[in-house]
Amino acid sequence: MFDALSEKLEEAWRKLRGQDRITEGNIDEALRDVRRALLEADVNFQVVKEFIADVRDDALGAEVIKGVTPDQQFIKIVYDQLLKTMGEENVPLAESQVKGRPAVILMAGLQGTGKTTATAKLALYLHKNNKKALLAAADVYRPAAIDQLQTLGAQIQVPVFSEGAAADPVDIARHALDQAIAGRYDVLIVDTAGRLSIDEAMMAELERIKAAIAPDEILLVVDAMTGQEAANLTRAFHERLGITGAILTKLDGDTRGGAALSVRKISGQPIKFVGVGEKVEALQPFYPDRMASRILG
Ligand code: GDP
Repeated sequence: MFDALSEKLEEAWRKLRGQDRITEGNIDEALRDVRRALLEADVNFQVVKEFIADVRDDALGAEVIKGVTPDQQFIKIVYDQLLKTMGEENVPLAESQVKGRPAVILMAGLQGTGKTTATAKLALYLHKNNKKALLAAADVYRPAAIDQLQTLGAQIQVPVFSEGAAADPVDIARHALDQAIAGRYDVLIVDTAGRLSIDEAMMAELERIKAAIAPDEILLVVDAMTGQEAANLTRAFHERLGITGAILTKLDGDTRGGAALSVRKISGQPIKFVGVGEKVEALQPFYPDRMASRILG
């Protein structure tokens, strides 16, 4: 199971091979290689620091297992720590917490991260799982975001609630929820406005929408290509909104996906899906073990 991830760390493993146990004296070089691999995968440096400290503690405290060489043991400790940090299993979408009401998902994130695309992708995913979804176009800020959502909605045959770009996003969200309840939808997904960078107006608007519709799920959409920045972004959104999960987009690019580790470590909330292409079908549930292998390269 470790084949895929051990190539990059071959040096680290080699240094431990031939030793009879992991010690203070032989662990540092191996840790340095792990640190380098994580930084190359764009994991935030502070997250890397804490991760390495945890691996070091585990490795030095580990019992010597008969028949297992120190390098094999070290690989397993690194891998287990990655899984521990990212959550061991896939976490499904939250169900509705309010009886007689659809599950409400609020999408949040910066402009260009793939939020509108992810909104449609999620609707298609739910549709394929026999859930009746309604989309709400509350991104009144980015020109053409509403048209884009309507086009995608038509393509996947999921209705889109819109009141145009002049309406207040809070009203749009509230009215969409009324419609979702009346139409007995299973899920309402609200696409909201992002900005090019973290912005007070955007956060205040998201807070107001949150207060108006009490979402069951607040998903932060993070572009995997943002690398180190994913950490600051997650912290800012989580502090203001209390995210319940994330969608990591653009994993089809050449990133190793270290942002996944940063997002989880900083918010404590799970990545629920990954975006792997521009098409509406290109969404997959997030599996921590696959990501662990990818991050270690
Ligand atoms: P928004 O401003 O956050 O709503 O971003 P959009 O949904 O409009 O997406 C911005 C760009 O990223 C578009 O060109 C999308 O096609 C593209 N995009 C979104 N998700 C993915 C993905 O998973 N992979 C790739 N390669 N492109 C994506």
